[in-house]
Amino acid sequence: MPAKNPTPKHSSAAAIDALLDERRSYQPSNEFREKATIRDESIYAQAITDPEGFWGKVASELDWFVAWNRVLEWKTPDAKWFLGGKLNVSYNCLDRHIRGARRNKAALIWIGEPGDRRTLTYWDLYREVNKFANALKKLGVAKGDRVAIYMPMVPELPIAMLACSRIGAVHSVVFGGFSAEALRDRINDQQAKVLITADGGWRRGQIVPLKHDADEALKGTPSIEHVVVVKRGEFPMHMKEGRDHWWHRLMDGISDHCWPEPMDSEDMLYILYTSGTTGKPKGIVHTTGGYLTGVYATTKWVFDLKEEDVFWCTADIGWVTGHSYVVYGPLANGATVVMYEGSPDWPDKDRFWQICEELAVTIFYTAPTAIRAFMKWGTEWPKKHKLVSLRLLGTVGEPINPEAWVWYHENIGGGNCPVVDTWWQTETGMILISPLPGITGLKPGSATKPLPGIVADVVNEQGESVKVGGGYLVLKRPWPAMLRGIYGDPERYREQYWSRFPGLYFTGDGAKRDADGYLWLLGRVDDVMNVAGHRISTMEVESALVDHPSVAEAAVVGRNHELKGTAISAFVTIKEGKDSGPELAGELKEHVVKKIGKIARPEEILFTADLPKTRSGKIMRRLLRDIAEGKAVGDTTTLADPAVIARLKTKYEEQES
Ligand code: ATP
Ligand code: MG
Repeated sequence: MPAKNPTPKHSSAAAIDALLDERRSYQPSNEFREKATIRDESIYAQAITDPEGFWGKVASELDWFVAWNRVLEWKTPDAKWFLGGKLNVSYNCLDRHIRGARRNKAALIWIGEPGDRRTLTYWDLYREVNKFANALKKLGVAKGDRVAIYMPMVPELPIAMLACSRIGAVHSVVFGGFSAEALRDRINDQQAKVLITADGGWRRGQIVPLKHDADEALKGTPSIEHVVVVKRGEFPMHMKEGRDHWWHRLMDGISDHCWPEPMDSEDMLYILYTSGTTGKPKGIVHTTGGYLTGVYATTKWVFDLKEEDVFWCTADIGWVTGHSYVVYGPLANGATVVMYEGSPDWPDKDRFWQICEELAVTIFYTAPTAIRAFMKWGTEWPKKHKLVSLRLLGTVGEPINPEAWVWYHENIGGGNCPVVDTWWQTETGMILISPLPGITGLKPGSATKPLPGIVADVVNEQGESVKVGGGYLVLKRPWPAMLRGIYGDPERYREQYWSRFPGLYFTGDGAKRDADGYLWLLGRVDDVMNVAGHRISTMEVESALVDHPSVAEAAVVGRNHELKGTAISAFVTIKEGKDSGPELAGELKEHVVKKIGKIARPEEILFTADLPKTRSGKIMRRLLRDIAEGKAVGDTTTLADPAVIARLKTKYEEQES
């Protein structure tokens, strides 16, 4: 059914053009609506009328040792939430559940890539966390100390995080796919005292030699006093006498009770570095009370979480999505969490669907990059499995192209699971823009509206609200899980987020608002292309390309052009079994013209099996721009596979000559 009010093509105040006119829409079914956790629109009004009362009420669903005396102190750009309140994160994720019916409920169902499996009930997880908290204390870790974690996706990873939170240590998880240098720099930036790692992990049937790489990093990290090593397999590596300790030996015979440290609401919980899509990663600081309140509430609202759900967020815990929606949000809610160690195409391209079927997963949350890979592999893979247990799907990480959204809705959700497109950042800590699946009508490609209590806006160059049309996405009021800064760099914090529009948090992303007030994320403003006086978002041209039946994924960039000023270069991945060739290139250019207009016609199209992505799976357009302009390629340290860039560069140069 078409949307009532299509987006007008241009608006004089707009800072970014709105070209794509997506009109499909989906309403929640009556069945879903009737059972939904949030059934009633009035939650939005409550949050607007009395924001502090609203967040205070949400926070009171957590267990506090000492109640706060003030909900919010806001001195731009510094927010403090629940001042004077004391609580412990691990206590909220564990202790309060083991006293009741959740004691023997599965907290974590873990599947290793080779097929091994472990299930920990809330009681099991509670004991492991308490023991490891005591082990950390034995190594001299105290409140406020930083602990770096460099691990595969194994249960010891959330156990280590929760153990840190239990004793008030600050954890900093470094994604296990990062190099030794990346680990070293992150350890040094925060002066971590202990490193927790593993002998190795499994990825696509290969061993990831974590301890070996960690040893490389440890040559340049003088702050590290101890290293704890989880034994994942029989992986070759070396233990350094005095410094390195096996996890299982430390846990042997240690007490399974450790008092939870009462933490101030504003005490630091963790530091996490951003994905580094736009440049050097930033060490984002999150604190205790506001963060937990934000992830607790959004898990419940956005995923419509129920006691009997089996919740699977496929993100690696090394990214913020894993922190907030594998560990803290679901466990604070007492949910059953699925955790998988490996890759979606190992041993075959149906691994995720096999796990969904076997564990009867009900809520599935993944990234557009994964969805586009599933599209590329074809529908025969999900068709091998009965996915009837699924009732809600989610996506996060990049704008989702409408075609990918519809594919996901039909082929994974069987046409009857709401898809929640959730916009947020490492900095925001929690989901900020997303549907509430029981009440929000969905439009493929739109993250819909800010959640209750969140005040977002789309503004033009002058910081004025763009009522309908495209512009810069900003946040106007503080929210509980917002970052409290960039670790050790208050100046960069102000400069990065608060200088572009005084008094407003600038997200760095573009967005457009349609006549229904729906928000459509347009990608990063650094990537916006200036073509013949039009400001065109990469997202809209990419979505027009992905709309073609042969295309699985596309990335476009604007490059300098002698005559036009800027020309659009498109890098396109086609679906398996489809033919690429000069005819297809011509067809795709015309397809873009038909979908969004002549102005967006790509000058050239390069077919490629892979696009350059960060290790979290996001397309790095700045590197493609360098290739298209024949420049030396910029910083590639956060790139997942540097070989992709080398191949693309050669191919691009061949095509040009
Ligand atoms: P860096 O800031 O270092 O460049 P990054 O921005 O990639 O890294 P993250 O915090 O992991 O690091 O990613 C947040 C960004 O991801 C958002 O600013 C936005 O660009 C994009 N994003 C996340 N979710 C969505 C979504 N649902 N729709 C559109 N974009 C999204
Ligand atoms: Mg960012």
